[in-house]
Amino acid sequence: MSSAKLIEPPFCRQCASPFPGTVTGETFVCGYCQDLRFYFSRTVCACRAQGVVRDCILRFKYNREMYFGRHLVDWLRGAAQRWIDWREIDGIVPVPLHPRKQRQREFNQAEYLAAGLSRAFDVPVLKGKVRRVKDTGTQTKLDAEARARNLRGAFAVRDETIFKGKRLVLLDDVFTTGATMDSCAKTLRGAGAREVIALAVARGV
Ligand SMILES: [Zn+2]
Repeated sequence: MSSAKLIEPPFCRQCASPFPGTVTGETFVCGYCQDLRFYFSRTVCACRAQGVVRDCILRFKYNREMYFGRHLVDWLRGAAQRWIDWREIDGIVPVPLHPRKQRQREFNQAEYLAAGLSRAFDVPVLKGKVRRVKDTGTQTKLDAEARARNLRGAFAVRDETIFKGKRLVLLDDVFTTGATMDSCAKTLRGAGAREVIALAVARGV
């Protein structure tokens, strides 16, 4: 399991896309993000979604092989420790699945990962407080714009008071265009969250 391609700096502050070469200065925003505004403040991804990492995600997510889930938590924990000051975080929000999809898959992979991080950093998981109200179907064939359109109004909070003033880590297994995270972050900010940091095991390419 040693051949995971970890994301090392420099990487884009907004979307965690790794950048070949050196960049001067503290923050760097890639060409893709230059004209985009997200509702999360920044993104942290542990690895590139390639090779062994991609295999682990597929086997964990679709075959529920928990052995691979533990590797994902290990990679995630490494990046989370390095790039996030957990003393400032009030809660971890796993990106919810639509109930139909969760029944199909029988578990939410993001909730499993969140439980692992919660134990490592002693920060509560705010599970079931935000729901996916729109069944967006599979998005792998959609481009960034179509994904964003498809995800409009996809999430809703269950309790308006719970996120008010909170600094949150929004967690998913893969970050691709950021459309899912952005839609969910928008809902959390709309419910009064002070900051949302996007965190994923893998950066899709
Ligand atoms: Zn970017």
